[in-house]
Amino acid sequence: MLNLSGEAIFLKLPKIVLERTGKVKLSAVNGMMCTVCKRKEAFFFRSYSGEKLCKKCFTQSIENKTRATIAKYKMLDFNNKIAVAVSGGKDSVSLLHVMVKIERDYPKASLVAVSVDEGIRGYRDEAMKIAEENCRKLGVEHHIISFKELYGFTLDEIVDNIKKKGTNELTPCAYCGVLRRKALNVIARKVGANRLATAHTLDDEAQTILLNMLHGDALRITREKPVTDENNPKLVRRVKPFCMIPEKETALYAYAKKIEFQSVPCPYASEAMRNDVRLFLNRMEEKHAGIKYTLFNTVEKMRQTLEKATQPEKIKKCLLCGEPAAQTVCKACEMLQAIKTER
Ligand code: SF4
Ligand code: ZN
Ligand code: ZN
Repeated sequence: MLNLSGEAIFLKLPKIVLERTGKVKLSAVNGMMCTVCKRKEAFFFRSYSGEKLCKKCFTQSIENKTRATIAKYKMLDFNNKIAVAVSGGKDSVSLLHVMVKIERDYPKASLVAVSVDEGIRGYRDEAMKIAEENCRKLGVEHHIISFKELYGFTLDEIVDNIKKKGTNELTPCAYCGVLRRKALNVIARKVGANRLATAHTLDDEAQTILLNMLHGDALRITREKPVTDENNPKLVRRVKPFCMIPEKETALYAYAKKIEFQSVPCPYASEAMRNDVRLFLNRMEEKHAGIKYTLFNTVEKMRQTLEKATQPEKIKKCLLCGEPAAQTVCKACEMLQAIKTER
């Protein structure tokens, strides 16, 4: 990683990762030492904190930050059974590696990996293999639930249906998001977990805050938080241990630890507005280091006031599937009903 010419060099990550995170600059300039251990050559400059870190101090800082986030938001108890949601992408695979380390400090806690196979040919099948391989190396039990077994359709079949019909305004991601959220809860409950850890990064959180503002959805801003409330016995509490870690750094963690992850993009990835927000935030972050964190933190500071100003969500039981729902029929059943009647 040493660049003897003294120029900044960039990490060679797959194009799809760089498009999401912006360039990952490895400032291994000649003679720059790690500001933490002061012994090894730095390979990464953390612009928002001014730290220059060697590989070891960098990976340790990610693990320490994750521990600190878990403690700050009281995400876990010492005896939890944690289900880590693993898609096979860099964020979730990095999270699995970090959580396995953290869980070792708590002898009464246990950890499993859970994955959702949406049924996306040539994409999710490869990701599942990568998730499986990481679990095998780490000695972690891996449980998979598929859209096909749970809903009777793969996402490919749902998309074919949308295309044939030609009138549906919902994107594949809109279906995928709702159906995956429910599937993750079902599998986490099935394996007896009382925490579901997802790999949402600081970038995801900052983007979601802005998107919700742009959509005028104040209620969603209060609902999307680092740890969900315990408001229904059938809803496994969701925690986001990476919510204060930039996506760029989860990619760098995977790179530094030589962790295998999937880098092929999903064929249905669209989310036009999220992409715009992502680009905007990445540009802002380059000019004003720490801006994503500031945005996240501002909402955290306002959370209590926001929660007081909005009605708490009443969780009902879906009339069709019995799962928790905001309305009399859950969003997933509503979507599936529409698909069935359209066929
Ligand atoms: Fe699902 Fe969209 Fe993500 Fe593909 S990009 S896995 S369709 S949410
Ligand atoms: Zn160091
Ligand atoms: Zn339902």
